[in-house]
Amino acid sequence: MAENSGIEWTTHTFNPWTGCTAVSPACDHCYAEGWAKRSGHVQWGPHGARRRTKTWGNPVRWNKAAEGAAERPRVFCASLADVFDNHRSIEDAWRLDLWHLIDQTPNIDWLLLTKRPQNIVKFAPERWFIGGIPRNVWLGTTVENQEEADRRIPHLIQCPARVRFLSCEPLLGPVSIRRYTSKLEWVITGGESGPNFRHADPDWFRSLRDQCADAGVPFLFKQWEGKTQKQIEAMGRELDGVVHDGYPEVRHV
Ligand code: SF4
Repeated sequence: MAENSGIEWTTHTFNPWTGCTAVSPACDHCYAEGWAKRSGHVQWGPHGARRRTKTWGNPVRWNKAAEGAAERPRVFCASLADVFDNHRSIEDAWRLDLWHLIDQTPNIDWLLLTKRPQNIVKFAPERWFIGGIPRNVWLGTTVENQEEADRRIPHLIQCPARVRFLSCEPLLGPVSIRRYTSKLEWVITGGESGPNFRHADPDWFRSLRDQCADAGVPFLFKQWEGKTQKQIEAMGRELDGVVHDGYPEVRHV
């Protein structure tokens, strides 16, 4: 379980800025958009300016605390934005500062999860594609159905990151990833939570699990669908055979 995040697969969550725009069906019930509307802190959508946060000292602290630790912390970046969002209000300096911060925090693994992998090459530093993507960067993209799999994964696997991962959550349909698994290091999946959750067929999860097992790709099943945490867990107890078989093996030398 995460220490500073409610998300099981990460240790911490960091948002360099907040604000985003929906880009696909996975965004229909975006948690961050709901939070933004409730809190009034963030303007949302194509006309809302992104705002830089004041929490940039956190990763530096996490990095220091992780010195010599047995397990490397994973930092999900970002939960209330998309690092590869091309919105005009995102200043170049913000992204430059983020790449610099990643360089300065080698004891933590940065999970850059995007629904815009087509923009990675445009916005990531050029040096990543010449000298190599930093060893502490994991690049991931969301895949909720086959259409998004075939649209997004080819962009992701072009990037020579040590860990390339999929977040198949909320899973909205059956997905075949067999043609991509040789270039993937991790697959996370889960159903949709919240009052307007959409139904997911358990066989969709089982299929992903089996495709990962065949290819030797670590698989993490996060949750079933449901309105509440209790419901999600209760549904999980009713069904077996879907497993969490670990994280990508990453050795830093
Ligand atoms: S990309 Fe992520 S943060 Fe942005 S609207 Fe979609 S779900 Fe929300």
